[in-house]
Amino acid sequence: MKGAIEILVVGGGPAGSVAAVLLHRLGFQVRLIEASDQPRPHIGEAISLGVHRHLTNLGLGEALDRAGCRLFDEYDEQWEQAEASVRKAPPGSATIDRARFDAAFWNLCRDAGVEVHLGQQVERVVRQVSGGWNVRTVGGERHDATFLIDATGRRSLLPRARRACGPRTLALYGYWRGEGLPVRPHIAAGASCWTWGAPVDGLGFNAILFVDRHALAEHGPDVREAYTRGLAKTGLLSLLASRSNCSVVSACDASAWLDDEACGLDFIKIGEAAQSLDPLASMGVQKAIQSARSAAVIVNTLLRRPDAQSIAQAYYQDLLERSAQVHRRATAEIYARSRFAEMSFWQARCDGADAGIKMREPASLSFSSTASVNLDMSRLGEHPCLCGDYVELRPAVLAGSEREPVAFLGDATVAGIVAAVRSSATWGALRASLALTHDATTADRICAWLVHNEILYVGAPG
Ligand SMILES: Cc1cc2nc3c(=O)[nH]c(=O)nc-3n(C[C@H](O)[C@H](O)[C@H](O)COP(=O)(O)OP(=O)(O)OC[C@H]3O[C@@H](n4cnc5c(N)ncnc54)[C@H](O)[C@@H]3O)c2cc1C
Repeated sequence: MKGAIEILVVGGGPAGSVAAVLLHRLGFQVRLIEASDQPRPHIGEAISLGVHRHLTNLGLGEALDRAGCRLFDEYDEQWEQAEASVRKAPPGSATIDRARFDAAFWNLCRDAGVEVHLGQQVERVVRQVSGGWNVRTVGGERHDATFLIDATGRRSLLPRARRACGPRTLALYGYWRGEGLPVRPHIAAGASCWTWGAPVDGLGFNAILFVDRHALAEHGPDVREAYTRGLAKTGLLSLLASRSNCSVVSACDASAWLDDEACGLDFIKIGEAAQSLDPLASMGVQKAIQSARSAAVIVNTLLRRPDAQSIAQAYYQDLLERSAQVHRRATAEIYARSRFAEMSFWQARCDGADAGIKMREPASLSFSSTASVNLDMSRLGEHPCLCGDYVELRPAVLAGSEREPVAFLGDATVAGIVAAVRSSATWGALRASLALTHDATTADRICAWLVHNEILYVGAPG
């Protein structure tokens, strides 16, 4: 048996590794155990600017440098029209070899001081009557821990309480190698499927087919046959098959769901063990890192501030719920733009497309100094917020498409800002009031943020 540890993280994907480093930085003894004993292939190779930003902010940008990214300025789309058109890719769009990326994290964990054990697949987890966990691996190793983090991805380790957030979807994928393959990502719609493919350095062109979960049964047991037929339906096959060959075709679940019991007093599920997103937006890795970031603060609160445990748990579950709703609406809007949107496969995925909270274009800030100011009080209240290394109940506003509680704008508290607005009848008075405690640029930024987020309304001159 390994010596007992405070925090045991099971699963060394992006979620587990980032959580392990952050909790170690917070002063906990952390052990990470991972089933693979060497860099292993993993689906989920498209990353966005958000991944670069999060990792750089956390001082973990080296994972991207070590893995090597292939950046794209453009991609091909056959979605709204049958003909392919070249689109501009969002800045920072890239593919990475997940084997190298995830292995880079294991090294960053070790460098940071986390105990890393590779090649240990957990097969049994028992909660001790006296508190804490007893974890056993396939090879017979035993680990005792006070707190358990389930970062095992879609399979997940702890009992599930999953709720579907969309139709059941299956992904079939393979890596194509040879000549004449597309040099940029390609997304295409078919009547009852869609495909996505992109070159990944060192691996070839990864082409993925997304179909209804029951579709495989219709095609019979031949996965390869179902895969090539599906690629043919969206037109992607004709771009691949002439002078290239496909590897073994794999199948995996790609449905979106949310776990309703993602956090207890002595455990937390993070990354895809807590929430799985529709792969359409290629946000899984970013969400895994974000959830690890929040989880580190939540675990810190659970273990060091017993009086705030229920606030911390509620914060996390609420965060997952909001993120699932926003993500569902965002993907529904993309599905609704397909030229097959009337077909049943697409209808099931368009659900909720119109229910989104539309963000207004940034409002002009050139108001008369005598214009009246009013706050939307329905957006203000006491909410659990991330305050430094803890979750705390704070006066906060619900902002952004995810209605995230925000308690600070820079170093200004929302409570202070509300007091300034309440004591100011006009736009000019509000700016003067904020300028008493902040420099003029910060005061202007606070005003702009409140107006753009539709929390502060500036009316006609009083
Ligand atoms: C078809 C498909 C395409 C996708 N494409 C994208 C994309 O383009 N971009 C994107 O950002 N996301 C994509 N995703 C989602 C992305 O793959 C995941 O969101 C991301 O990998 C989640 O990270 P994680 O750390 O939570 O879990 P994982 O990356 O799955 O890591 C879990 C780790 O736990 C280990 N493990 C599992 N069980 C045990 C056990 N019992 N004991 C010990 N270790 C264990 C595994 O070996 C693994 O290393 C896609 C998903 C699917 C299904």
